Amino acid sequence: AVFGRMFGGQMTAAGQIPPAKVLVIGAGVAGLSAIGTASRLGAQVRAFDTRKEVKDQVESMGGQFLTVELEEDGSSSDGYAKQMSQAFIDAEMALFKQQAREVDIIITTALIPGKPAPRLITEDMLDVMKPGSVIVDLAAENGGNCALTEKNTVVEHNGIHIIGYTDLPSRMAQQASELYANNIFHLTKQMVKEDKFAPNFDDVLERACTVTFEGQVTFPPPPIQVSAQPKAAAEKAEKPTAETKAAAEDKKEFWAGLRTFGVAAFALVMLAAGTVLPESFLSHLTVFVLACFVGYYVVWNVSPSLHTPLMSVTNAISGIVILGALVQAKGSLSTMGWIFVGIALLVAMINVSGGFLVTQRMLNMFRR
Ligand code: NAD
Repeated sequence: AVFGRMFGGQMTAAGQIPPAKVLVIGAGVAGLSAIGTASRLGAQVRAFDTRKEVKDQVESMGGQFLTVELEEDGSSSDGYAKQMSQAFIDAEMALFKQQAREVDIIITTALIPGKPAPRLITEDMLDVMKPGSVIVDLAAENGGNCALTEKNTVVEHNGIHIIGYTDLPSRMAQQASELYANNIFHLTKQMVKEDKFAPNFDDVLERACTVTFEGQVTFPPPPIQVSAQPKAAAEKAEKPTAETKAAAEDKKEFWAGLRTFGVAAFALVMLAAGTVLPESFLSHLTVFVLACFVGYYVVWNVSPSLHTPLMSVTNAISGIVILGALVQAKGSLSTMGWIFVGIALLVAMINVSGGFLVTQRMLNMFRR
């Protein structure tokens, strides 16, 4: 509302309106929601966060994830950000200054729980922003991410509005109350069993929010692990020692040897088979083996997230199997032949109908 212009781009008889450009700093709960809302309204959204693990989340909400040259990850084991080095803060501020020239709206949510908000938007960045731009400083509660933020007011500086409200939930009281009531209702329902308060201490959430139980003080709770970053990844990043390097080399040599042995054994088997089996069988076998190789490389070079859409392609290929089975079914066949035709038809039908079902479900996921 303060921006006073459209978010989405439009092509009109009187000229073109470009989409608004929005930069979101901090892609936690509030940041991701802002990215989703701004991109749904039609804006071009970029986002930055010190935790690299949120890149996929930013992209799935329709934003572009910005990065800086410096290698430093702000993730910590509890899922919240850790404080970054001064060099990193300087690098991200250089990025923000360059972005400030381009964007129309900046939404800042950068915060580390219990710490004052880092100053990320300085006066010299405001100087290069276009008049009419808006900054929404969601970290205003803890001092603000922008140098000129004033708590609970909207400041105007060179035609730029800086919003420092800290009572945003109260500004949409009905929805905030409904959501809050829903949360409390489900929490209570979960912790009350047979009309008695009975928290389950194996449940991280119930344990974390219980302060006292059966006369015992249960505060503070053990720290919770909520990081999306798998722990193993951090361990893997440790520098390899001479021993682990040697073990890795041995393993590599073993697999290379096994592969050579496998190829040689296969060639020998094929050679032996060639002397006893009919020629037509060998040509079918060659096609089958080549198809296995092609199939293997096609599937394994596709990223796992795309394996489900690959189903629809398999589905089409199964169509060809049906054709083969139908052609065979035309001629006069032995009992064994009919059994194979029947199995081929059945399996192909399962693939065709299953493929369509899965594709349909996938498409439904993308429908709003
Ligand atoms: P959050 O902890 O989920 O997100 C904060 C994000 O900021 C994290 O992703 C963190 O990595 C990032 N960050 C920290 N330091 C950074 C830096 N130097 N540069 C870039 N990114 C950095 O917290 P949240 O719930 O999203 O809340 C953020 C702010 O928004 C708070 O001030 C909160 O009061 C306010 N707010 C939140 C809500 C809500 O519903 N969550 C509603 C209104 C206002």
